[in-house]
Amino acid sequence: MNVLVCGGAGYIGSHAVRQLLDAGHRVAVVDNLCRGHAAAVDRRAAFFKLDLADTAELTDVLVRHHVDCVMQFAALTYVGESVADPLAYYYNNTAGTISLLRAMRTAGVQRLVFSSTCATYGEPESTPLVETMRQQPVSPYGWSKWCVERVLRDYAAADPQFAFVAPRYFNVAGAAVDGSLGEDHRPETHLIPVLLRAALGRENKVTVFGTDYPTPDGTCIRDYIHVEDLCEAHIAAMNALQPGDTRFYNLGIGHGYSVKQVIESVLRVTDRKIPIEYGPRRAGDPAMLFANADKARRELGWSARHTEIDDIVGTAWRWFKNHPDGYSE
Ligand code: UDP
Repeated sequence: MNVLVCGGAGYIGSHAVRQLLDAGHRVAVVDNLCRGHAAAVDRRAAFFKLDLADTAELTDVLVRHHVDCVMQFAALTYVGESVADPLAYYYNNTAGTISLLRAMRTAGVQRLVFSSTCATYGEPESTPLVETMRQQPVSPYGWSKWCVERVLRDYAAADPQFAFVAPRYFNVAGAAVDGSLGEDHRPETHLIPVLLRAALGRENKVTVFGTDYPTPDGTCIRDYIHVEDLCEAHIAAMNALQPGDTRFYNLGIGHGYSVKQVIESVLRVTDRKIPIEYGPRRAGDPAMLFANADKARRELGWSARHTEIDDIVGTAWRWFKNHPDGYSE
């Protein structure tokens, strides 16, 4: 297939580009490089530095590359930043994807894989989360993705040939097993990379956000899914899409690890000292989030291969140890 990957210079997009190419697909990448890294884009892919707001240029790329399917990863992804600057989130994530859909309509491209998030559920009614649960986001980031899900349902209802799948990610972690691609966020706020940067001496300390949650050890529990497993699910979903499909899948490993368990894992894997301090809760963090990923298993024949936290952390450690300055080396 000819696939356009939007956000292909980012953490998840760059891993997806690599897997698509390895599976024999032809890939074009668009990315405005506001958060991504040109060096993360596989050289076998055609690269266009382009913003999703540029509908006309996007249409041109779609037509010239005879694109069959689009994977849309391009997004801003910090919950805290979205609270401080909601317009940036609605503009980039929601309006940007609408611009992409308009370009797809003009170019006659009928298949889309759209990165959604478990943040669209907000504070969950219960765990594990299933796809049919109430969606009530608690941040502009979550709403910006929820809005796109809404738009996609309405657009698909109006065009019976259009098909989309919206995987809802849990906590994406890890790095390419061969050590060649990884995570390089600026600033870095996610737990595993922050701990690994501290292990390298690049952070002075790591703060545990809250120790009084109603969980066995008092810290939050999250479902950490390996980035390569996540990308495999995208390709399986893309291959399964039929005209008229409107699919949603929770992508996670199906169980969670607490913040303390993740810290213990990082200490085991790195064998380094990490200064830890215990602080108050971070606003908007639900106590426990983990997926019921049965629907993806049933319908796509997919399940996560990396389910042990030491294994997931180990791949990320290899990346950070070999690329302490990320892609800027
Ligand atoms: N966390 C923490 N210290 C940090 C970063 C994260 O205690 O420096 C906690 C956070 O409160 C959450 C979990 O680790 O419970 C995962 O957070 P992350 O930011 O990695 O992902 P999120 O769940 O917010 O998408």
